[in-house]
Amino acid sequence: MRETQTVIPAPAPVFLPVAGSEAVFPVRRVYCVGRNYADHAIEMGHDPSREPPFFFQKNPQNLVINGQFPYPSLSSNVHFEVELVMALKAGGQDIPLEEALSCVWGYGVGVDFTRRDLQDAIKKAGRPWEAAKAFEASAPISPLVPADQIGHPQQGEIFLDVNGVRKQTGDLAQMIWKLPEIVTELSKLFTLAPGDIIMTGTPAGVGPVVRGDRIACGVTGVAMLDVTVI
Ligand code: MN
Repeated sequence: MRETQTVIPAPAPVFLPVAGSEAVFPVRRVYCVGRNYADHAIEMGHDPSREPPFFFQKNPQNLVINGQFPYPSLSSNVHFEVELVMALKAGGQDIPLEEALSCVWGYGVGVDFTRRDLQDAIKKAGRPWEAAKAFEASAPISPLVPADQIGHPQQGEIFLDVNGVRKQTGDLAQMIWKLPEIVTELSKLFTLAPGDIIMTGTPAGVGPVVRGDRIACGVTGVAMLDVTVI
């Protein structure tokens, strides 16, 4: 077979590390769930009732695995949001609820950094969220852990500390849309596939960071992640 000739160098594929393994997880797409914990919806000024979930995306190239978050341009109010991360090994369209968890390869913890000032302006103008969410280095992620080892975490503490002070705390059981429901609902809108990453929403307590801040976050029994704002 002839090797494909590219007219420019092919973009590098994106991989996430796997805890305790030399092998890595190849990333295809990055989906995020909005307002999936009632107490966070309330703190953002929204009704926490169970409306259909909504989704947005980041780019695979926005993922960070070296624990460093460069403070972004054009914002002076950048917020942390700690989230459980799902990593898919299978996908499809209209995935039935009872098959949803069989699509999940593993889990990690990540931070959905958000340019909150830009997001507020974007929301007011009714414009798309990319500038607030899908910016460079906006998603530090821990090494992934296979579901084979830890199961599917549907309860357990999720937390985030800044400089040793607890800022966010919640429990996975507080998710408005549970893990299988997230996969099923997302698959109604998009064709999911192996390599897709889903950030599952954040509990209450989001807030701003400044350069030099040290974040320590995690989901008990799943993964921990340290991030320095540079
Ligand atoms: Mn989020």
